[in-house]
Amino acid sequence: MARSIAVIGAGIAGASVAHALAQRGHAVTIFEAADAPAQGASGNHVGVFRPLPSLDDSRLSRLLRAGFLRGHQLFATLPEARLGWTGALHIARDPKHEATQQRIAAGQPADFCRFVTREAASELAGWPVEFGGWWFPQAGWINPPSLVHALLAGLDVRYDQRIDRLADIDAEDIVLANGYEAPALVPDFKLPIRAGRGLVSHVPESTTPPFHIVATRLGYVTPAVDGIRCAGATSQLDDLDAAPRRGDHIENLQRLDLLLPGFGKALDPATLNGRVSFRPMSPDRLPIVGPLSASEGLWISGGFGARGLVFASICAELLACQISGEPLPLEADLVAAVSPGRFKTQARV
Ligand SMILES: Cc1cc2nc3c(=O)[nH]c(=O)nc-3n(C[C@H](O)[C@H](O)[C@H](O)COP(=O)(O)OP(=O)(O)OC[C@H]3O[C@@H](n4cnc5c(N)ncnc54)[C@H](O)[C@@H]3O)c2cc1C
Repeated sequence: MARSIAVIGAGIAGASVAHALAQRGHAVTIFEAADAPAQGASGNHVGVFRPLPSLDDSRLSRLLRAGFLRGHQLFATLPEARLGWTGALHIARDPKHEATQQRIAAGQPADFCRFVTREAASELAGWPVEFGGWWFPQAGWINPPSLVHALLAGLDVRYDQRIDRLADIDAEDIVLANGYEAPALVPDFKLPIRAGRGLVSHVPESTTPPFHIVATRLGYVTPAVDGIRCAGATSQLDDLDAAPRRGDHIENLQRLDLLLPGFGKALDPATLNGRVSFRPMSPDRLPIVGPLSASEGLWISGGFGARGLVFASICAELLACQISGEPLPLEADLVAAVSPGRFKTQARV
């Protein structure tokens, strides 16, 4: 049955949940503190979209795979979203890591993940790299603001509406999707989400050699979109300073040099621009999705940390199924792994 549902936050978490709920016929209203969508962590110029396999096929790996596959399906229905499936190269840290990557890749379908030698990796990158690594042929980049816009198209979004008290909202259900600020709205639940400050450096395309894929190795670098490639990203817990710092750019350039030695040698950290935002970090790096109190119609989709673009669509699907009483799209152990109840918060299910 159609319900009236308020979603707080118009980032990738809120937009994905609102889209999934509206598709099921619910009457959704989104409340956003800013005057436009994607002004928080989901406002970065370019983000990386890729899975992360592991030897034991961990819960994180399974969830990222589900999110990666669900994302591909969903984005195909959103032609306004700007993205590129260029392939992504995850270069090994050292020979031991290279050997582990090779073992893991042996158990994966080749069109999902395969191991490439140093020579093949250098060829794919068009730049000499230090080691071989994983090649994810279907992975790539996303411009998150365009994805958020596409998800929100046609929905009732109220901008400049900061919610300070849930009691002010008139709806049958409320979904918290307000990033690192979610705990402040439900202090009784002691939600363990913390802010993870991060700066992405904006590297002008004209100052670097041609480079057309996504590459990662402790940091990442993307293809240029509108003349800017993104190199990231720093990470400082509980630091709410929104101003870019020169030291942030220096760190990102060090990451870039580890990734593609010499690629950024013409770059001067003093002249780079960048964007600071705050990841909603959960203690175990898994999202926090499900009922805070099903009986009171209080739900959350958040805690996406550094992987919001990959987590968002599968978490939205899960939450929409939970709210609508439909069969769930994930195995029971994964549903439990992301449940807010796992932290022994005061979730009143
Ligand atoms: C530097 C950096 C690089 C990243 N790179 C990648 C990447 O390459 N790939 C990837 O997958 N992920 C990446 N991430 C992570 C990803 O950006 C986040 O996980 C994701 O954007 C979080 O989305 P969200 O919707 O939960 O939060 P946000 O995008 O922060 O949205 C929360 C929204 O809620 C609003 N809000 C807050 N409080 C209230 C309130 N009380 N009332 C109304 N509105 C409110 C805010 O204004 C904001 O718009 C990166 C993050 C950072 C910081």
